Amino acid sequence: MLPLLRLLQDGSFHSGEALGAALGVSRSAIWKQLQSLEAELALPVHRVRGRGYRLESPLLLLDENVLAAGESSPMWPLRILPSVDSTNAEVLRRLAGGQVPPFIILAERQTSGRGRRGRNWVSPFGENLYYSLALQVDGGMRQLEGLSLVVGLALLRALRAAGMTAAGLKWPNDVLVDGRKVAGILLELSGDPADVCHVVIGIGVNVNMLADRGAIDQPWTSMRAELGGLVDRNEFVSELNRQLSLYLGIHQASGFSALRDEWQDNHLWQGRNVTLTTGARPVSGVVLGVDRSGALRLRVAGVEQSFSGGELSLRLNNDS
Ligand code: ATP
Repeated sequence: MLPLLRLLQDGSFHSGEALGAALGVSRSAIWKQLQSLEAELALPVHRVRGRGYRLESPLLLLDENVLAAGESSPMWPLRILPSVDSTNAEVLRRLAGGQVPPFIILAERQTSGRGRRGRNWVSPFGENLYYSLALQVDGGMRQLEGLSLVVGLALLRALRAAGMTAAGLKWPNDVLVDGRKVAGILLELSGDPADVCHVVIGIGVNVNMLADRGAIDQPWTSMRAELGGLVDRNEFVSELNRQLSLYLGIHQASGFSALRDEWQDNHLWQGRNVTLTTGARPVSGVVLGVDRSGALRLRVAGVEQSFSGGELSLRLNNDS
């Protein structure tokens, strides 16, 4: 289906005959593929007698050749899938099947994109970035300390380089613009942290999405909505790779403490009144920052306390 989509991605009309000739298949084969595009990828195709077919809106598809030709360093081997349940789940399956990291899986769509605590990540076809990087963890648990915050910092740098100057971080690792979520991060582990262990760095970025058909239950935005034009996802992936390589290198060599000040400088909620939802009861306090391992420091009733763990969720208080 992807070769057909590449021909259609400009959003112009293409006759069935021309599409068939370009792909070396019959017009009826093209017609079948178009049916699948609509059914499987939920991509609306317009048909006009005498003019042919066109996509409802143009796309800029991810392209392995373009990415391979870019200057993204290092060249982590990369595979683009048209559709997958979740890029993190795919990476975990590949690791279990013996594929050796580092490698990246990108998808044009996720059917069961995931957030933290089993929540859903809305992932329509061809619009956003669904990116998972598999890395080997050398050096045990210490190597994981603050890692998700460092990934947030690298992602923020890539967004800023693309012009998203108002973007900032929300602990532990969401990226927000004016209180609206533009990107999220989900780290998952496989193996034994005391032995051979791999980490999957999952990143979802709203790049060109303008409508979610009511599927997202909190304020969100996208790069296109903020910047006012279609964003080239291939260029963004290259920039993200560059920033991840840089920041993961610093983290590996010097640990999170080397990046702690920079992270706090970019934390949107420093000094704000917040409520932290934990498994048990909510805790309210003032954000002091993060500690050397990336745990959140709050002043709660005059006493400093630190919090860490994947089950924690931060919200601003109304009086903040
Ligand atoms: P926390 O504040 O604890 O990070 P969260 O609500 O942001 O919690 P995540 O697991 O980070 O939760 O992300 C999942 C949530 O993000 C979903 O429940 C939904 O509210 C929202 N969401 C889902 N898809 C998108 C998307 N494409 N863009 C922005 N937000 C989304």
